[in-house]
Amino acid sequence: MFSASTIDTLTQLSYLGAAALFILGLKRMSSPVTAVSGVRWAGVGMVLATVVTLAFMGASTLNLTLVIGAIAVGGSIAWISGKRVAMTDMPQMIALYNGMGGGAAAAIAAVQLYRGSEHSITHLTIALIGGFIGSVSFSGSLIAFAKLQGLITKSVRFGGQKFVNLAILLITVGLGFLVISGMEPGLPSVSLFFGFSLLLGVAMTLPIGGADMPVVISLYNALTGLAVGFEGFVLDNAAMIIAGTVVGAAGTLLTQLMAKAMNRSLSNVLFSNFGETSSAAGGSVTGSQKAIEASDAGVMMAYSQKIIIVPGYGLAVAQAQHKVWELAQLLIDHGVKVRFAIHPVAGRMPGHMNVLLAEAGVPYDLISDLDEINAEFETADVALIIGANDVVNPDARANKGSPIYGMPILNADKAKNVIVIKRGQGQGFSGIDNALFVLEQTRMLYGDAQAAVSQLIQAVKAAG
Ligand code: NDP
Repeated sequence: MFSASTIDTLTQLSYLGAAALFILGLKRMSSPVTAVSGVRWAGVGMVLATVVTLAFMGASTLNLTLVIGAIAVGGSIAWISGKRVAMTDMPQMIALYNGMGGGAAAAIAAVQLYRGSEHSITHLTIALIGGFIGSVSFSGSLIAFAKLQGLITKSVRFGGQKFVNLAILLITVGLGFLVISGMEPGLPSVSLFFGFSLLLGVAMTLPIGGADMPVVISLYNALTGLAVGFEGFVLDNAAMIIAGTVVGAAGTLLTQLMAKAMNRSLSNVLFSNFGETSSAAGGSVTGSQKAIEASDAGVMMAYSQKIIIVPGYGLAVAQAQHKVWELAQLLIDHGVKVRFAIHPVAGRMPGHMNVLLAEAGVPYDLISDLDEINAEFETADVALIIGANDVVNPDARANKGSPIYGMPILNADKAKNVIVIKRGQGQGFSGIDNALFVLEQTRMLYGDAQAAVSQLIQAVKAAG
């Protein structure tokens, strides 16, 4: 129906349109107000790129059927799992999906490399680099998924591990050289190359502790983007190049931001074996926790002038965000100045708390991040900690032996009074005790966050 040059022009224009939608979508995702529409814009871009590729790629009916079948199966699984996944399980789902992207890029590279002699060395080199990065991202992301899902509970560490990893890397590079130089063409060296690339992803991720997993997932996200970009060059597909580069750049920025939020360098995350759950470090906290009844806490809050609410992972578990906003509104009606303080790694994924509070309808101007709010704790009558633990642990500031030493925290301990809602003596993600909970001005309101906040609402109402 169309001439070859018309098809090419239409394809390139559509890819340009898709790329514009990806970038505009990403831009909209930077604010909670426009984030949902941003996801839709980027989704429309992806549909456009996919439809155009399928329509104009000139594939045989069999290939087309296979591709559409794969999209239908993959799309259905993603749709159902996306609907069902609990917000608290989001990091491992992101790790899994991200791994699939890396795996897909590696699969494209594998096809090119297995067909070796048909292509130029430049073509094969680009495919090989993308295949290497995609394979590392694929197997590394699967290990990250297994760790966050609790399927792998121990971090595998042994003496000389870094040298073993370096050896795997060197062998992989050597095999890659054999593949593209044509000295050892054919299946065995290509298969070995991919085998060692996958092994490297596993070996790199196994020793990294749970607390560092968010940074690692973000890094693999960036690597997947890069791998897709490389394979975009291989397939001469502008949409893949642009989408891959955008994901790679966004992932790199997020990795840097998260590493900064934990006061870590990336090399420190990857090579220092930090982030392992440590019970030994808990020994530094002495003193006992003092409980408070909801009725007393309610009176204290009703007569406060300023309250800073710090949400954490426990709020997500209890799905207490709506109740918390109800409490905040009640306090505001009482003339109390209420602010929400969000730590960048509170919860279990970047932006976790922002999403929950937005879902409950908390206005954005009441929400502050760490840098904005930290100086204000000193003037707060009450810091109300709801299911947060690590992000308010003063050990991060004061105890050099603590595994979270150096991580910026919310200065809740500087408030005149601290009320902590949690179910019992449970530790946070990093598995250490919290010095905040035994401070003189701290009182523990034990219970599930939703139930405890409901009691506080009644108590504030009763206090008049
Ligand atoms: P933490 O994981 O440190 O602590 C959560 C606390 O919530 C626990 O001490 C627990 O105590 C309490 N809790 C659990 N369930 C409930 C409930 N139903 N009601 C009330 N309380 C409950 O959370 P933070 O948000 O303070 O810190 C996040 C941690 O997670 C950091 O260490 C961060 O590095 C890590 N991380 C962050 C990711 C991110 O991207 N944001 C991703 C992965 C990890 P108890 O059992 O006594 O109730």
